[in-house]
Amino acid sequence: MLTQAAPTEIIHQQRRFFQQGTTKNVEFRLKQLHQLKALIQKNQDAIAQALKDDLKKPAFEAIGSEILFSIGNIDHTIQHLRNWAKPQKVSVPLTQLPASAQIISEPLGVVLIIGPWNYPFQLLILPLVGAIAAGNCAILKPSELVPHTSKLVADLIAKNFDPGFLSVVEGGKEIAQDLLKEKFDHIFFTGGTQVGKIIMQAAAEHLTPVTLELGGKSPCIIEPDADIATTARRITWSKFINSGQSCIAPDYLLVHQKIKGLLLAELKISIQEFYGENPEKSPDYARIISENHFQRLCQLLNPDKIVFGGKTNADERYIAPTIMDGVSWEDKVMEDEIFGPILPLLTYSDLGGAIAQINTRPKPLALYLFTDNKSTQQRILKETSSGGVCINDAMVQCVCEELPFGGVGNSGIGAYHGKFSFDTFSHRKSVLNRWSWPDFKLRYPPYQGKGEML
Ligand code: NAD
Repeated sequence: MLTQAAPTEIIHQQRRFFQQGTTKNVEFRLKQLHQLKALIQKNQDAIAQALKDDLKKPAFEAIGSEILFSIGNIDHTIQHLRNWAKPQKVSVPLTQLPASAQIISEPLGVVLIIGPWNYPFQLLILPLVGAIAAGNCAILKPSELVPHTSKLVADLIAKNFDPGFLSVVEGGKEIAQDLLKEKFDHIFFTGGTQVGKIIMQAAAEHLTPVTLELGGKSPCIIEPDADIATTARRITWSKFINSGQSCIAPDYLLVHQKIKGLLLAELKISIQEFYGENPEKSPDYARIISENHFQRLCQLLNPDKIVFGGKTNADERYIAPTIMDGVSWEDKVMEDEIFGPILPLLTYSDLGGAIAQINTRPKPLALYLFTDNKSTQQRILKETSSGGVCINDAMVQCVCEELPFGGVGNSGIGAYHGKFSFDTFSHRKSVLNRWSWPDFKLRYPPYQGKGEML
């Protein structure tokens, strides 16, 4: 590990850098984004290797969901940044004429980005792209559970950027708490709901605004008209990629009872097609991040309800892609976000019942619906609330740069991706520019006799 400066020292250094005004120049920001893209491209193999060392993440997944995803986000930002950063003219009410009005996006200052371990590279880089685009200095705090990725990101940033502009502080929750004692101009946190509350409390001390990208139990509804084979493949992919450790993985299935048998059969076929007879041997199947998470997940496995998978190997922190049937809300697996390769299956006989089950629980980060029926789609959109919705697929909504990515209620505060990242890290300053002449006297005291003129 590089010798780290104390958080206070780094923040002072960044404040001085920010006050020079360099980051206010859009050309400077574009140059930094090009540099970030170039260093990701140059170090693609090392990044994929670090992700493999930390999570046994298959190279194909590392390249697709972490490296190319980050590069695509940088490209989109570079393409639109000049436009986003332009002052936006707005109309002025008649009573204020003659005047002009505009909204200027200005950087916030020094921001803190705290990352999780599950997509440890892109979940640091994507917020960072927004922070740079908006003209901020940034400190990144990667998760301590992915030491290879954390060290690589720290080295790459230290070697390629002025520490007054960008710095990485490595370490666990103690380091995070040291950082949180300092005053930042924005804190962008991705992680669990419990830690999100700690972050928000610490931020409140300094009145620092926060973006909280949290998790939750994302439901997946399957209606009888769904194309069962395609639905099963898409659910299998989105649930078991990264061994189920994805914030927007379908947490549980709510399947119409008429098609439960068919869906179950197709899910089993898909799992076998993707990962073979023994997924433990598959090069395409990741591992559970830590001993704690492995133990936590093992306790959710109820042998009486497992209808597929269920095998575990503590030495490898391996849990097979597992389906549990006949699950109810009283089961342990339905208490909290699963965040692992266990797929509980619940049934419903009328859609109203399924909606009621979702609506009595905290608002999820994502909601999935498999049906081509337009009125069912509209009904779900109107009658449920979630960070986002994806119809007839899962997880892939996060790739659309034009869609905000974020939660609602317990699943998060704020959103990012594309222009939404730029806005998250900007202050929209309102500017009214009035002419000095004419100066109507109506508004000035004394008011006597002026009331009837209003
Ligand atoms: P986590 O909350 O345990 O840790 C996230 C970060 O917070 C890490 O950098 C960690 O060092 C730090 N941290 C942990 N405890 C802390 C404390 N007491 N004080 C200050 N900082 C602390 O989350 P995780 O286990 O890394 O990630 C899993 C969670 O993140 C899941 O709930 C998942 O849904 C969520 N997540 C959300 C998104 C999203 O985009 N909404 C993406 C990925 C993960």
